[in-house]
Amino acid sequence: MHARLAGKRETTVSAPEGRAALADRYPRIIKPHDPSAVPANMPDYAAARRTFSWEGARGLLDGLPGGRGLNIAHEAVDRHVPGPRADRDAIRWLGRSGERRAFTYRDLKAATNRFANALSGLGVQAGDSVFVLSGRIPELIIALLGALKAKCVVSPLFSAFGPEPLATRLTIGEGRVLVTTASLYRRKIAPLRGSLPKLEHVIVVPEAGEAPAAGTLDWRRLVDGQSPDFTIPPTDPEDRALLHFTSGTTGRPKGAIHVHEAVVTHTVTGRCALDLHDADVFWCTADPGWVTGTSYGIIAPLTNGVTSVVAEAEFDAATWYGILQNERVSVWYTAPTAIRMMMKLGAEAVRGYDLSALRFMASVGEPLNPEAVVWGQQAFGRPFHDNWWQTETGGIMIANFASMDVKPGSMGKPLPGIEAAIVQRDPGGSFMIVDDPMVEGELALKAGWPSMMRGYLHEEERYRKCFAGPWYLTGDLAMRDSEGYYWFVGRADDVIKTSGHLIGPFEVESALLEHSAVAEAGVIGKPDPMAGEIVKAFVALKPGFAPSEALRRDLLGHARKRLGAVVAPKEIDFAATLPRTRSGKIMRRLLKARELGLPEGDLSTLESDLR
Ligand code: ATP
Ligand code: MG
Repeated sequence: MHARLAGKRETTVSAPEGRAALADRYPRIIKPHDPSAVPANMPDYAAARRTFSWEGARGLLDGLPGGRGLNIAHEAVDRHVPGPRADRDAIRWLGRSGERRAFTYRDLKAATNRFANALSGLGVQAGDSVFVLSGRIPELIIALLGALKAKCVVSPLFSAFGPEPLATRLTIGEGRVLVTTASLYRRKIAPLRGSLPKLEHVIVVPEAGEAPAAGTLDWRRLVDGQSPDFTIPPTDPEDRALLHFTSGTTGRPKGAIHVHEAVVTHTVTGRCALDLHDADVFWCTADPGWVTGTSYGIIAPLTNGVTSVVAEAEFDAATWYGILQNERVSVWYTAPTAIRMMMKLGAEAVRGYDLSALRFMASVGEPLNPEAVVWGQQAFGRPFHDNWWQTETGGIMIANFASMDVKPGSMGKPLPGIEAAIVQRDPGGSFMIVDDPMVEGELALKAGWPSMMRGYLHEEERYRKCFAGPWYLTGDLAMRDSEGYYWFVGRADDVIKTSGHLIGPFEVESALLEHSAVAEAGVIGKPDPMAGEIVKAFVALKPGFAPSEALRRDLLGHARKRLGAVVAPKEIDFAATLPRTRSGKIMRRLLKARELGLPEGDLSTLESDLR
């Protein structure tokens, strides 16, 4: 079967004990089944899948009063007011220098209404494009939800972008309104203004020490005096709501279009995959500039009526553990890159904190190495629950559920309502579904869930190429085991072909990460006249370890023992740090381009301090 995936000679190999043994190497983490768990948390996964329907899930939401449709902001905010949640904190904001601001659902309703009224006052219409550019501040959330109330299409931008990626996105998204802060405006937008003729209104959140800039609107003057009442106009569930750019890990970022109906997925997955219960304090560490920061940093916690912690601080272990302790966070959603940084500092650093409120920890964005899952168990007394999704899917598709045993290294199982498959392309170019367990192929999802993208902005052809009949092709390679758990292999673009074998970089990186000296690993295929490609690894070391020939030999030996000679890297280079996207993903294509002295391609999403 593998031969059909990529031409005649190729077969897939993996660690000598075989992939099926991966789960045994890291014993599964067995969960006590909690009888008090609400049905949405699926004590019985199989039954939940059988009985689930998206029409039924729609019943978790209210819809606009009077049957006037479905609007994300109504579900996130207005429907809780009045009601038992009205005076609960919706947002608890923690500023960089220790400031705190809390917004109850009632406050948030009034604040988002004021913003929607402000937009209407400016003549902004339904369907107009509103961009938001700021760090994690309450105004960003208010602007995003307020603009959704006014039926604008909202696009969050990452605040650390330079002028070039900002200009590109504002131009292709035809931004009419931009909401930003005074310092970001001065540094990044003012120099671009002349090249953005469509950008009519820039609303600026004032900051201490920043003078008001000509040609901008002061948030306080524009918004604060508005009426706290606003009636959301009728909203068709298919009306455009969000434009999200992908991370640009594999190339030029794509603008994925999402509609109001996506809120059904956000709400369901918040319950199923993130285990949100009514009284939870939830913390999503993702930046609002990426899809996770919107779907789960803003929408899912609010539609589920929980309290959402919004922390301005970037990663710093002491600050983060302090937040978990002091806010009594019960559900925490973070990313492998942060987890690896915590691992670097050791489990000891967690010990001094009272994390007794913490019940559920989840991770997304990159493959979560099995070592990291097990480390979570050691350091926090509970595993990280990996889950998988993409900008395009709008919400979590595959997850390790609260009620499910965790197999370290597996992404988990598809959510109710999500049909997943492993597909392979036959030599004639058509696709076939692979039913055998532990066979690699492209991960495909049957289109039709509410938060599926409705297109790539201005890129009809690129969008069309994502489909084979009813199946959406994700561009990721994976396999499914006999129990239905999915295992990530690598991105289709990153797979290494060596001496007729296909090797996924993730397995090699995970093996290297088991070595006590390794903090991070990135693995690529390096062209080779004999083998086609050889496996080459780039390794960043933990504090206290220095690059040396002896360590290199030790790492090569470790990898060979663990993976076998075919899969283990032939070359290892030490690097101070690995190039990452701003959303925290290792950019293997850049490691490769640099190795080969090729053009570096689109670097708009590269973390600038790593250039
Ligand atoms: P681009 O599409 O522009 O190359 P990107 O794919 O990194 O960028 P995102 O939509 O932010 O943009 O990321 C989705 C991708 O991240 C997935 O397709 C997958 O490759 C990776 N990913 C996300 N979660 C996981 C996970 N739990 N395990 C493995 N990979 C993951
Ligand atoms: Mg992608």
